[in-house]
Amino acid sequence: MDDPNCVFCQIVAGRLPADILLQDQDLTVFRDHRPVASVHILVVPNKHIGSLNNLEPSDNDLIVKLINTARDVAHKVGIHKSGYRIVINTGPNAGQSVFHLHVHLLGGERLSFPMKFL
Ligand code: AMP
Repeated sequence: MDDPNCVFCQIVAGRLPADILLQDQDLTVFRDHRPVASVHILVVPNKHIGSLNNLEPSDNDLIVKLINTARDVAHKVGIHKSGYRIVINTGPNAGQSVFHLHVHLLGGERLSFPMKFL
């Protein structure tokens, strides 16, 4: 289920340190180590899925849970009223750098659009 060469699989498995906010049987939530906004949190599935392009129909519940969790975490860290953005970079033109599906949760300040260097 996990890919030994994948940095997010290593975080999920506890082999690489991260600032983990939440973990359950399906997903792990941790702070991005190079934040591009005051709040920059990643929500990742525990199982290795390379990107949105690799989602299977059986992952439908999982993707809904990732998004619902991003919303719940926004609430927990107190940015639900000021506003936030969720981003899923997919492939080279979007600048995806870690090929393990993840949802960026960004907020805590006014966000520019588009964010070129995320
Ligand atoms: P993306 O460019 O959409 O693939 O986003 C990957 C994100 O993962 C970037 O914002 C990185 O800063 C972040 N990242 C990479 N390695 C780590 C790590 N070990 N701990 C926390 N965040 C990471």
